[in-house]
Order: sequence, then structure tokens, then C-alpha cells
Amino acid sequence: MVSQTERDEMTWYECEHCGLMFDDESDADQHERNCDSEEPSYIQ
Ligand SMILES: [Zn+2]
Repeated sequence: MVSQTERDEMTWYECEHCGLMFDDESDADQHERNCDSEEPSYIQ
């Protein structure tokens, strides 16, 4: 599921799998469905 964050008075949509940010929710949604990253990058 895409998470929503606000930065610089803009709303960004972040892929929860790889952390990639998009300024368009449908782009983020489409990416996330095709994202092949199984683990979030912030887990170390
Ligand atoms: Zn991703």
C-alpha cells in the first residue's frame, strides 16, 4: 500500500516496498503493483 507524505507543501506518495517517491498517486500505485522489491529498504 502506498503511503502518503507531505513535503515542501507537496503531497508525495511512497512505495512501501522500496521507498521510491512519486508526486502522483496513480504512478505510485502502478509502480507498487509492479515493484519486485520484497523488503523495505529501511530495514537494516
Ligand atoms: Zn517500489
